Amino acid sequence: MREAISVAEALEMVLEAARPLGAETVPSADALGRVLTASVVSARTLPPDDNSAMDGYAVRAADLADYPVELPVVFDVPAGGRAPRPLASGEAARILTGAPLPPGADAVVRQEDAERMEDRVRIPGGSPPRAFVCRAGENVRRAGEDVASGETALEAGCRLGPAHLGLLASLGRSSVAVHARPLVALLSGGDELVEPDGDVAGGRIVSSNSYTLAAACREVGAETRYLGIARDEPVDLERRLRAGLRSDALVTSAGVSVGDHDHVRGVLQKLGCRLLCFGVRMKPGYPFVFGRFEPGPGPLVFGLPGNPVSALVTFEQFVRPALLAMAGHATLHRPRIAVTLAETLTKKAGRLHFVRVRLERHGHEVRARSTGNQSSGVLRSMTEAQGLLIFPAEATRLAAGAPAEVQLLDEAFLASTGPGL
Ligand code: AMP
Ligand code: MG
Repeated sequence: MREAISVAEALEMVLEAARPLGAETVPSADALGRVLTASVVSARTLPPDDNSAMDGYAVRAADLADYPVELPVVFDVPAGGRAPRPLASGEAARILTGAPLPPGADAVVRQEDAERMEDRVRIPGGSPPRAFVCRAGENVRRAGEDVASGETALEAGCRLGPAHLGLLASLGRSSVAVHARPLVALLSGGDELVEPDGDVAGGRIVSSNSYTLAAACREVGAETRYLGIARDEPVDLERRLRAGLRSDALVTSAGVSVGDHDHVRGVLQKLGCRLLCFGVRMKPGYPFVFGRFEPGPGPLVFGLPGNPVSALVTFEQFVRPALLAMAGHATLHRPRIAVTLAETLTKKAGRLHFVRVRLERHGHEVRARSTGNQSSGVLRSMTEAQGLLIFPAEATRLAAGAPAEVQLLDEAFLASTGPGL
């Protein structure tokens, strides 16, 4: 087991172990946010025919050399219908958007550029500078311009968003193969903890981590299974941990440091978990444990510190990227943005600090200011933070006005507009 490793080393160790889960087939309509395990090859041509991009008149462009032009309207092609016969030279057909172009026609004159007169249509043509020219292909959507039959429409590894689900529907694919969603078993531990409806008299506190961590799992598409609150004694702890062994990740909070009542590490080892690291040189979140069952099967094990901020910050750094990797995602990390410090920060050398910060735009610059009290017990500071500022391990002072990097927790900040942007 490695102790007191850097954040980068711990992340590398976690990502080395977090492999994409196998495939499952799900209804396409339910596949939002999932990642394809195999490319989708189209068995269809989309659109299937050359068709009209506008409501108007199908024509042969060669018939429209000199304006005005008057043509007989010989038939109608409704949306969802077909032409009864090819269009001959000197003829026009009424056509609606999306309807297949009649054979022989090669262009569509928009309704707005034509005048209908009973069974004829007149195309005035206009005069300079608004001269009207109708070329072959005008207002026509070509067969296969979206997807050709046999073409790879979506690549393996692709994350499915709304447009992807629409395309799958158009291709007639009612189900798709995607990476399974990781199942995360969550355990809280500590004699002081109660559920939210419990009695908080006598120094008891609500196990907020159960809620924070379950929500953080769901935010990345993982499923959760709550194992409850374990008492600070090995028998109850072991019973509950056992119940979490059939999961992809087992996430505990509290009970992993060196206190007399911290049994988590010992019980995990007894159950066959190999602990790979204990202690990461970061603040908050030093007492982080990572382990795995070797040889498997068994979940990846993340022992997070109990303090609410430490639990969430270590989740952000290690568990979140691991869950995304298991679900097959290529993008594992929060966006990082360059900021300017609005105030001077100091610390001792040795640990990387994740400073909870609020962000403000000033012209093209984003300024970061600490949310205030950085105690790892103050969960409210996380609700107020839009990001975590990276105060490197060996640095001791970041001066006001200096550049720094922030992991953006509130990704909507990127979309917010401000003066000068
Ligand atoms: P421990 O790691 O057991 O020493 O816990 C560190 C601190 O985190 C203590 O103040 C605990 O009360 C608190 N804590 C532990 N587990 C939770 C939890 N599930 N929810 C909220 N706070 C917790
Ligand atoms: Mg405890």
